[in-house]
Amino acid sequence: MRTTEHAVVIAGGGPAGMMLAAELALAKVDVAVVERRPDHVLAGSRAGGLLTRTIEVLDQRGVADRFLAEGQVHQAMPFGTAMLDMSDLPTRHPYFLGIFQNEIERIMAAWIAELPVRIYYGSEVTGFAQDDTGVDVELSDDRSLRAGYLVGCDGGRSVIRKAGGIEFPGWDPTRSNLIAEVETAEEPPQGVRHDATGIQAVHMMENGSTVRVVVTEQEIGPSSEPTLRDLSEALITVYGTDFGIHNPTWISRFTDMTRQAATYRAGRVLLAGDAAHVHYPAGGQGLSLGVQDAVNLGWKLAQVVGGSSPDSLLDTYQDERHPVVARVLQHTIALGTLQRQDERMKALVDVVSELANLDEPRKRLVGIRSGLDIHYDLGEGHPLLGRRMPDLDLMTANGPLRVFELLHGARPLLLDLAQPGDFDVAPWADRVQLIAASYNGDWELPVLGAVSAPTAVLIRPDGYVAWVGDGTDVGLTDALATWFGPPA
Ligand SMILES: Cc1cc2nc3c(=O)[nH]c(=O)nc-3n(C[C@H](O)[C@H](O)[C@H](O)COP(=O)(O)OP(=O)(O)OC[C@H]3O[C@@H](n4cnc5c(N)ncnc54)[C@H](O)[C@@H]3O)c2cc1C
Repeated sequence: MRTTEHAVVIAGGGPAGMMLAAELALAKVDVAVVERRPDHVLAGSRAGGLLTRTIEVLDQRGVADRFLAEGQVHQAMPFGTAMLDMSDLPTRHPYFLGIFQNEIERIMAAWIAELPVRIYYGSEVTGFAQDDTGVDVELSDDRSLRAGYLVGCDGGRSVIRKAGGIEFPGWDPTRSNLIAEVETAEEPPQGVRHDATGIQAVHMMENGSTVRVVVTEQEIGPSSEPTLRDLSEALITVYGTDFGIHNPTWISRFTDMTRQAATYRAGRVLLAGDAAHVHYPAGGQGLSLGVQDAVNLGWKLAQVVGGSSPDSLLDTYQDERHPVVARVLQHTIALGTLQRQDERMKALVDVVSELANLDEPRKRLVGIRSGLDIHYDLGEGHPLLGRRMPDLDLMTANGPLRVFELLHGARPLLLDLAQPGDFDVAPWADRVQLIAASYNGDWELPVLGAVSAPTAVLIRPDGYVAWVGDGTDVGLTDALATWFGPPA
């Protein structure tokens, strides 16, 4: 049997796996992805778009325009019966970008094809064995891989999570939906409706002949693949007719099962994306959560693999992402519950929706849904600490630049916004960029509003602020050592 070595092997080339591969490749790590599909093509459309913070992290890598060019901007997000305005979010992207997952994966696959990422298509990870120095990764074909680290981005039924014996506690399903793309003999009524079981939705797709249907089943369906007959019966129950459905290109079932891995790390094995958490798709958060997991993990894993940071840096991945995702899971349960509208529940949904549209609650809810309110607990300090760095318009020695442009290479950045020459980062110069810049605008954070202007900020490759200067460099060397390893 042939064994090939890589620094990192990723099981699964969905959105989380591809984003992680890109992050590692940008950091010059030898990374390979094992994907069981023969190529990146996805049978159905699946997820419906990208949330604001996800568009921002793609913007931080210089590729957001590729997605923006093919998506539709929606500046309001549904909550119960309300549409919450997002247009005043302090970001360049105050919207949800409507773009189907098969398009997202096509664009991501084209991006990682430009990077040094090795992809083993048509191969499945069947198990692994780890020791003190690495992981032997078993594949379904006559190959095996050896890696320093293995990351399971292999979806909700993750083989890596199960083989690693990682618990997956949470809530059992209480309902199931069929989702499909089919042709119909009759023209169905388009739009979304709610009843006591949940959501029912019919939309014509762009080709003008295929209809995307989401229908809630009367009882939780089996775990086997759903059939056209299942869909027909579910439609007749809700609409009184199945509209003459035929020619399905995709039929799938999802539930409101909500679970989160008890740990995101078992030694040299880590989990990201749906492998680490599953939930009902209300709010369209699943894909975005996985991409953001990958951006949190990528630079940390790169530094550990490269030897500049200790292995313990990887524990901060779970410390930061687990609580953030747990909060989103709660939110999706609330959103899913608001979809069940018998007459009494409808009264409650109307009251809650009216309150949600008041300015303060709206800002909070939009903050959660957009991902812009994420706060990693990095200790006490300026409100920017642990929050995302805004994409400010800077003036630098090289002319005007946006903060996000300075993050395209996925390298840490110390932004000196006061007197050039204030800081000496020579012992980290091989890792950290030092840029002197001026910025005279406001500092406004999502949900929190205006905050005082810092004199310097240390920004991690994922765009979160690791240290804030207040006219001195107190705490800077500690922050540099904590996040980017000991001085050279
Ligand atoms: C029917 C349905 C509807 C959905 N609707 C929405 C929505 O409206 N909005 C939203 O945000 N999200 C939605 N989701 C969820 C969204 O699709 C996921 O959250 C997202 O795809 C997660 O990305 P991922 O990369 O973590 O996992 P996945 O996309 O599941 O990718 C996992 C990859 O790993 C591969 N793989 C699996 N096992 C192995 C193995 N052993 N070896 C090698 N490769 C393997 C798979 O082929 C796949 O490519 C929906 C999901 C489903 C199933």
